[in-house]
Amino acid sequence: MDDFTSKSPEKIPFELYSEYEERPFHTCTRCGETLLDYLEGYHVAKIIKNREAVFEYALCFTCHSGMVAEFSSESRQALENFYLENMNPSLGLNGCGLCSMERLKFEDKEYSIGAMCQGKNMIDGFIICSSCMEKTNSLISSKTQGVWEDFINENFPGVPANALPSPGKLGVL
Ligand SMILES: [Zn+2]
Ligand SMILES: [Zn+2]
Repeated sequence: MDDFTSKSPEKIPFELYSEYEERPFHTCTRCGETLLDYLEGYHVAKIIKNREAVFEYALCFTCHSGMVAEFSSESRQALENFYLENMNPSLGLNGCGLCSMERLKFEDKEYSIGAMCQGKNMIDGFIICSSCMEKTNSLISSKTQGVWEDFINENFPGVPANALPSPGKLGVL
């Protein structure tokens, strides 16, 4: 049956590979556990600028839900509502999930790509264009921003946290 709304899993596409390792992410960026072992799945996120990944991570279910749980409830609610109201999940990796702009129109600039994976498959993936990234940024409280900066400082040593995208930009929820 071909149901447009319920996506069937597909193999993790090349653009969601770890550029650093040149293969699908193997371990969690935070705890180092093997991602394939997580039946609940794991999250992959990347920021692409001028067609190059400038930031990437994979988080196991435990680390991801642990981080989100530390965000302020206002931010969580605001982001959740925003995505619920604006997200067009049927676009997948073909265009901005928020404004529906075609991928061709922004792929030379900056965008973020996020996906939920399980084993060797991608369950769900989305792209957010740079102007929509700016919009989601305004939904983040300073507490949430702090949780995120701790995550960056602990896992990406040497990279100034303010040089990196905030959770709203990546669509971490
Ligand atoms: Zn982990
Ligand atoms: Zn957009």
